[in-house]
Amino acid sequence: MEHPENAKEYKGLTVNKGIEQPSIVNPYLKVQKRPKRRHLSAGEFVEGILKGDVTVLSQAVTLVESVKPEHQALAQEVIEKCLPYAGNSVRIGISGVPGAGKSTSIDVFGLQVLEDKGGKLAVLAIDPSSERSKGSILGDKTRMEKLSVHPKSFIRPSPTAGSLGGVARKTRESIILCEAAGFDKIFVETVGVGQSETAVHSMVDFFLLIQLAGTGDELQGIKRGIMEMADGIVINKADGNNIEKAKLAAAHFRNALHLFPAPDSGWTPQVLTYSGFYNIGVKEIWDMIFQYFDFVKANGYFERRRNEQAKYWMYESINEQLRDHFYQDSLIKDMLALKEQEVLAGQTTSFTAAKKLLDMYFNGLKNLH
Ligand code: GDP
Repeated sequence: MEHPENAKEYKGLTVNKGIEQPSIVNPYLKVQKRPKRRHLSAGEFVEGILKGDVTVLSQAVTLVESVKPEHQALAQEVIEKCLPYAGNSVRIGISGVPGAGKSTSIDVFGLQVLEDKGGKLAVLAIDPSSERSKGSILGDKTRMEKLSVHPKSFIRPSPTAGSLGGVARKTRESIILCEAAGFDKIFVETVGVGQSETAVHSMVDFFLLIQLAGTGDELQGIKRGIMEMADGIVINKADGNNIEKAKLAAAHFRNALHLFPAPDSGWTPQVLTYSGFYNIGVKEIWDMIFQYFDFVKANGYFERRRNEQAKYWMYESINEQLRDHFYQDSLIKDMLALKEQEVLAGQTTSFTAAKKLLDMYFNGLKNLH
């Protein structure tokens, strides 16, 4: 049939209907419906974890890290069910400033302990400054090259940025899941630059501080509190012409440790030198750590410390939840902005402003009852 626009009366500019836009989707493509990822039930999570299924374990840790309330509720159920199967491990905290050689060392320490003692090793981290987009210093799996491909290891980067308390809690809960999955050695890594050591210390049985030999003033930069927490101090990079310096630094640390009160464990913290890169002196570090475990298991401190930690975390959870509840209240949020302005303008004191806000919060709670 002749096209109607070819008729004489259609000459010149005309507005035609045009053709219909074709679909941007290729109609010949077979539509493959992506199966909707079904969330496992608490029972399925627990079953997978207890079987040592690392995929399920990973998903459970992701659940623990989620901020969604429904995920949190499910995570808590899973943790609770895993709890009877957890605890059977040695938990070791490893801290050191960036560049101290933590990743190099963890790789070597991990391989050594798996070779000597068997079992399974999970490496977790606490780095409150981490953000996935920024590429966390503790989030890069390839840092531990050998361990990351070892069939008996599970490496998990730090939960993403949040309050230190929140990040630490998630790591602590992940420990429970890892233990239930049969990981009997747990490393918790942290950057030695702030309060995160305290958080790590509150969830491990042994706290190892990695140090470097400096120019003789190495003790200055170390916060007293961090040194006091250490059950062992190890000076890395004791290789090449650094060996003497490392030994000297070790002597300094030993002297400094004498100045601290004796730890509750009854254990005298030891100072060793080693080279993670050349794998020198690593076995001695493990000997020290296991000597410590024999010691504190015999004198009851091991159990006592874990109990203390459980108590500490109960209070931490209460504090965290109270804080969240307060700051997430929409009325409080509005009022907070207002009061902040008043305080900044010198119209009211910080204390009065805080009291007003808290009164408002507590009265609000009362009205709910
Ligand atoms: P992290 O930031 O604490 O995780 O430190 P890394 O493990 O990334 O190490 C920082 C740098 O120190 C890297 O260039 C390592 O190769 C180097 N390093 C680590 N351990 C040793 C060691 O035992 N000896 C020497 N000479 N260099 C080391």
